[in-house]
Amino acid sequence: MILYSTNNPNLKADLKTAVLKSLADDKGLYMPEIIPQLDPTFIDNIEQYSFQEIAFEVCHKLFQGFIPDEDIKDIISKSITFEAPVVMLDEKIGSLELWHGPSLAFKDFGARFMAALMSYFHKGDTKKLTILVATSGDTGGAVAFGFLGVPGVEVIILYPKGNVSLLQEKQLTTLGQNISAIEVDGTFDDCQALVKEAFLDDDLNAVYKLSSANSINISRLIPQSFYYFEAYKQLKKYGKKVVFSVPSGNFGNLTAGLLAVKMGLPVHHFLAATNINKIVPDYLTSGQYQPLPSIPTISNAMDVGNPSNFARMLDLFGKDWSAMASKISGYYYTDEETREEMKLIFDTNKYVSDPHGAIGHRALRTYLQDHPDCVGAFLETAHPAKFEDVVSDTLGIPVEIPERLAILASRDKVATQLSPIYADFKKYLLERS
Ligand SMILES: *Cc1c(COP(=O)(O)O)cnc(C)c1O
Repeated sequence: MILYSTNNPNLKADLKTAVLKSLADDKGLYMPEIIPQLDPTFIDNIEQYSFQEIAFEVCHKLFQGFIPDEDIKDIISKSITFEAPVVMLDEKIGSLELWHGPSLAFKDFGARFMAALMSYFHKGDTKKLTILVATSGDTGGAVAFGFLGVPGVEVIILYPKGNVSLLQEKQLTTLGQNISAIEVDGTFDDCQALVKEAFLDDDLNAVYKLSSANSINISRLIPQSFYYFEAYKQLKKYGKKVVFSVPSGNFGNLTAGLLAVKMGLPVHHFLAATNINKIVPDYLTSGQYQPLPSIPTISNAMDVGNPSNFARMLDLFGKDWSAMASKISGYYYTDEETREEMKLIFDTNKYVSDPHGAIGHRALRTYLQDHPDCVGAFLETAHPAKFEDVVSDTLGIPVEIPERLAILASRDKVATQLSPIYADFKKYLLERS
């Protein structure tokens, strides 16, 4: 499998390089040079395949013999270990629940697959692989669980002191084993700056083999396409055109849906659902891409003012705005509307959604009013317990915390305290090496 950089189609890399480097040297994002189609009879008979079998079929095609089938099966059996059920709220709207993994968010799919693939590519290398990751909360949890216990790999997570929720912090600081946490007395941007500088530091590169678990890594995108096939399989029986509504921030999820379509999945339409950080919905109506500083909202995992996967979306449509606008419609909602929708879903369907999923629901409900020939699912990107404060405040009920998360609350936090000064971080890394 050969990939190219979105900044320069002539800058190419193989899958191993793309996975271990995340970003191309020219700071472009990696995209597959060839996106093969699945066999149409496979799609016609998709009901006969399990989620893991579907994942295998997608990888087998996409990797083009670059990884032997037996190894692909092994990678999938280690990473795609939980379901992606579509729970129908009524006869036309389903919730594609992507939170059945260990950190309760869809990011588990990407993080686990990336961990399995990195460890596969790292096999046989005697030097330990060290993953540095800066997090504002969500990504760090998924990455920590994804790499937990993976041989030959260690993870160092940097998070801003006082800026992550209690349960998020527990996910970062209580797992132990090959996962270490650093609590930085600074902001998320400080954490990111420390990680960036470390990657460029010759002294560190002499003793460490460093890699990042960046959200733009192609190995996080690929597994996110699996669940569109899996959801289609569950919606096919309704005999209608299938629509997906995707609550979006950096647009990795939506890009993965587009990838599935390129591989032959018959999705009629996508809804790009955002909060008031509506850069992409604005682009879809105006053709003008205008990045802006992000605005904080209650659906904070989507507070993104310059979505990193936009370059990939453009490439998938040959940089043609009208082609993109005919396949994707933008919707955006205020916090007020998001809360209204959470209440509506609860009152009407007795279903508790998180704020991100509620935005997806509202877009889908609106679209379906004018498109009676369609059935759809919104991506429920996180378990409501991850946004307990907003959910219980909005619905006036306590939110049940799943056992696998609640169990962490009783464990003791282990984190190294550091200043945001690079020299301190470097000293810490050199001393522990
Ligand atoms: C990361 C995240 C999103 C945004 O997903 P993108 O792929 O960046 O668009 C939406 N909802 C939740 C809960 C998330 O954690």
